[in-house]
Amino acid sequence: MQKLFHFDSPVEVYRADACVLTCFDARFELVVRKFLRRRGVALCDQIKIPGAAKALARPASEGDRDFVLRMLATSMALHGSARMILTGHNDCGAYIGRPPEEVIADIARAAEVIRAAQPSLAVERYFFDFDGVYQV
Ligand SMILES: [Zn+2]
Repeated sequence: MQKLFHFDSPVEVYRADACVLTCFDARFELVVRKFLRRRGVALCDQIKIPGAAKALARPASEGDRDFVLRMLATSMALHGSARMILTGHNDCGAYIGRPPEEVIADIARAAEVIRAAQPSLAVERYFFDFDGVYQV
């Protein structure tokens, strides 16, 4: 094995301020990070999936929903996440030609799925638009 890059990563296991479900759309990466910091989320377990909440609300296959729920359970078990942040964004490739209201409805539906699976979690819902972040 040949070392190609030196970097000192923290060794200590962390406590996550939240488990965060976002789309992998890189246009919103910076605003997500800044907004989370503003909401008191410095360290988080981020689940990045195209369409974000759609994987819970209307999964392409039932296995997708189970996979996300398992990632959430792992975040809770390993890093003590007590907060789930569900997001969606405008102009999402998982919703081509669909209005933002459909994304927002899926975020609400996803919140119900989370509440049913993990009733102890605090669930927050946000919609990211090109001019800022909205609570939904
Ligand atoms: Zn997207």
